[in-house]
Amino acid sequence: SGSDTRHGAIEAVTAYQIPDKDFAEPLGRLFGKNVFDLARMKSRLPKVVYNSVLATIEKGAPLDPSIADSVASAMRDWAQENGASHYAHVFYPLTGLTAEKHDSFLEPDSNGSSLAQFTGKTLIQGEPDASSFPNGGIRGTFEARGYTGWDVTSPAYILENPNGNTLCIPTIFVSWTGEALDKKTPLLRSQQAMGAQAARLLKLFGHTDVDTVVSFAGAEQEYFLIDEHFYFARPDLMSAGRTLFGAKPAKGQQFDDHYFGAIPERVLAFMIEVDRELFKQGILAKTRHNEVAPGQFEIAPLFEKANLAHDHQQLMMTTLKKVAERYQMTCLLHEKPFAGVNGSGKHVNFSLGNANQGNLLNPGDTPHENAQFLTFCAAIIRSVHLYGGLLRAVVASASNDFRLGANEAPPAIISIFLGDQLMDVYDQIAKGGATGSKGAGTLEVGVDTLPKLKADPGDRNRTSPFAFTGNRFEFRAPGSGQSISGPMVAINTMLADSIDFIATELEAKLAAGVEFNDAIQAVLEGIVTDHGAVIFNGDGYSQAWQEEAAQRGLKNLRTTPDALPELQDPAVIAMFDKYKVLSPRELHSRHEVYLEQYVLSVHVEAAETAKVAKTAILPAALRYQALLADNVAKLSAVDIPADRTMLDEVTAQIGKLTAGLAALEGALAHESEEASSLDHATQAKNELIPPMADVRAAADALEGLVADDLWPLPTYQEMLHIL
Ligand code: ADP
Ligand code: MG
Repeated sequence: SGSDTRHGAIEAVTAYQIPDKDFAEPLGRLFGKNVFDLARMKSRLPKVVYNSVLATIEKGAPLDPSIADSVASAMRDWAQENGASHYAHVFYPLTGLTAEKHDSFLEPDSNGSSLAQFTGKTLIQGEPDASSFPNGGIRGTFEARGYTGWDVTSPAYILENPNGNTLCIPTIFVSWTGEALDKKTPLLRSQQAMGAQAARLLKLFGHTDVDTVVSFAGAEQEYFLIDEHFYFARPDLMSAGRTLFGAKPAKGQQFDDHYFGAIPERVLAFMIEVDRELFKQGILAKTRHNEVAPGQFEIAPLFEKANLAHDHQQLMMTTLKKVAERYQMTCLLHEKPFAGVNGSGKHVNFSLGNANQGNLLNPGDTPHENAQFLTFCAAIIRSVHLYGGLLRAVVASASNDFRLGANEAPPAIISIFLGDQLMDVYDQIAKGGATGSKGAGTLEVGVDTLPKLKADPGDRNRTSPFAFTGNRFEFRAPGSGQSISGPMVAINTMLADSIDFIATELEAKLAAGVEFNDAIQAVLEGIVTDHGAVIFNGDGYSQAWQEEAAQRGLKNLRTTPDALPELQDPAVIAMFDKYKVLSPRELHSRHEVYLEQYVLSVHVEAAETAKVAKTAILPAALRYQALLADNVAKLSAVDIPADRTMLDEVTAQIGKLTAGLAALEGALAHESEEASSLDHATQAKNELIPPMADVRAAADALEGLVADDLWPLPTYQEMLHIL
């Protein structure tokens, strides 16, 4: 029976022995071991070829086909010397996951013997059987082909496997018309768009040595670990990635205070191995014990160029899952695997800059540097105000709704945190510019020096979705399981738009003979006046903020069906089109795919809720009810007064469970097919989620009533505390 599975799981967990791994190579010698990096390319490629590749990497231009053969053969030789028998084009479809198309280096020739086949053409173009990936209508059935091609900005690497290694080639994935079918293509395009505008603005600041500007990203990743025996005893976790049932721990997440004393031995072993695996792939990451919820941890890599950070982040998620399995654990990347327990986010830290001008979000020391910093920062303020809805849309998913729409960090309202000091600086700019007076309490941009800004430790302003943290911004709304591409594409493109706006205004003022510092002052003053409403340093959880935000005209998009239509806002469509990041057709296809995914997730959950309730929870409750009824009947038969309280309570909850189940099954059965994707998503939200909640409420109440030895599902207490 179900309860045997549960008790068997507990026994298996307690009997677990940590494998004894003897890692011969010291960590320090592992870094980048499996990467076909610049140094390896330099030593293996003819000089002209290397220089051409290098230029491509730095400028993001496509690989010159005439050198592709030479690169491919060097790459293959290196891979084969390192035990690779296969290669794979790795790409990032719209599901947010990572996909791979594997091929063997060896192909039979006409004589029946085998030959190593990995040419420049293979490197530049792969053709996965990609018709199964969502495309939102971009590929007609008559031409379902998609092509992958090496994204030269991201180095090839070897993935180890006991049965043979694989050379992995990070690729972009486009349709035969060149339209983006993936998460990587728009990221590269958006980097270019942002870089071009930023370089233009830097030139206005008088720099003559402006190098390509890129955005940098570093994503802090939260996750849960549970023993895999529990995972396999929870069909809801297996199909939906989260618990659809489970009574919340009585004392919230602090229910076991002594837990935090030490990292469980097994988790420590896991962390050490994760760090080693990531090191080999050239990812400098450090796993950490995170003290927010029991069973929850965090890993943060060192920031990199956003395009590379994206690929590494995807690899990190795969690595966490893979290594967890080696220790008989399951890594949960769902945003809210356990109701009532802290959820998991992925804080995307970002900045922009280049080698010559450095980090452009660094306040600097001189008045001129300060002015430049304040200008780039103003571009961010303007962007977040104009496109807050877009920022909400790019982190929208059925699972992330449990964080953003609920009473948890951060709220669904997108505002920006600057900290008191920086906010005060912008206030002074606004005053000075407005009155033209240079009196006390005003700041003259380009002339006055900024006060030393205190770096705000990340956790002091946890309630803000978008926070300045001293020399970067941290976007906290992305969910733990999401790709960082959506957020970075939005941020880069919004920045391209706002930096373009600022540069255009400045150019006009300078052409009209306005002095540079005065022109900056005027532009910044205009931005603070028009967009200051998005700045909020207070408590983002409070009810008062919900009301104030509404008064300020900020959107509060609680659910995915509320948020995704932002992708079809005319201003958003125009912006993506103008900067050539996504065409209206490409953007529309994404809107469709993400809505479909929402519907799919809600459906999977609804169906699984019905199934588990009916086949596991109801039977346990009925057994217990029969036991109680039997007890009452037998006591009455021998004239002992029987207390029916328990029986009545159980019976009442069984009534609620079956009523909820009937409503849920009814909603699942009745489903319109003609509706638009948005109607479909709204319908799923309105008709499936409420009966799911009713079923769960009754089931969770029963968990507190039914005899423990009959209960079929591992409990929160067990899953979160037994590792
Ligand atoms: P905290 O834990 O206080 O939020 P960390 O120093 O651990 O801060 O950094 C969190 C993440 O931010 C890391 O991935 C780090 O590499 C990244 N980060 C730090 N500086 C920058 C920057 N200038 N641009 C982008 N990301 C950055
Ligand atoms: Mg942080």
